[in-house]
Amino acid sequence: MRFDIITVFPELFAGVLECGIIRRARQTGLVDVRIVNLRDFAKDRHRSIDDRPYGGGEGMVFMPGPLFEAIEFCRGAENEAGSQVILMSPQGAIWSQNLAAEFATISHLIMICGRYEGVDQRVVDCLVDREISIGDFILTGGEIPAMVVIDSVVRLIPGSLGCWDSTINESFSTGLLDYPQYTRPAEYRGHVVPEVLLSGDHARIEKWRKEQALEKTKRARPELVTKKLAQN
Ligand code: SAH
Repeated sequence: MRFDIITVFPELFAGVLECGIIRRARQTGLVDVRIVNLRDFAKDRHRSIDDRPYGGGEGMVFMPGPLFEAIEFCRGAENEAGSQVILMSPQGAIWSQNLAAEFATISHLIMICGRYEGVDQRVVDCLVDREISIGDFILTGGEIPAMVVIDSVVRLIPGSLGCWDSTINESFSTGLLDYPQYTRPAEYRGHVVPEVLLSGDHARIEKWRKEQALEKTKRARPELVTKKLAQN
């Protein structure tokens, strides 16, 4: 799978791409991430990529020219059909585990990271396939949202995690939150691990985990329980 990230701050991505599971997925060739500097597509000697909004108002807007050319560059000469152009935007569909699973099946994602007041609407109308928001709040740029999307998609690509099962049993995949996890020692400062987990009785353990997941979800996210019951 290929990710092209169009940004005016390429340096922001170094840490995220060079650690942990994303680093390994890149090293083994499961994913290819290319950081595209929008300023490389500017036309003037100041490398401008933004201008004041028509109609007045605060701030600056990304001009269409550099973005059109950057997207054409990412798509390649053949204007490849398998690619999807995603704009990170607070006006988009809210990101979720379901969307992450869907995106993990796309072969080429081209992601635009906005800044300032956003991007010229002609880019959205002509080139963007989907707008994605990571939640109802405003950030200074689309780079952190793009990292959120990449991180959650990469771990769903078969082969990226050591153990594939871990994506089947975790929060949201089951429709509920995850059950509580414990590791050694069995007692720490007088706090003990629930006895059932040490029992070796797999049926009992599974039952306990299901109950705990349901209890936790009822308390923290009751709407998820309602949704799950409606689906069953
Ligand atoms: N004026 C715009 C906000 C611009 S914020 C509006 O009111 O809708 C600047 C950039 O940050 C956006 O273009 C987008 O790329 C990114 N951004 C900010 N908040 C975001 C969010 N919740 N999800 C995804 N991208 C976001």
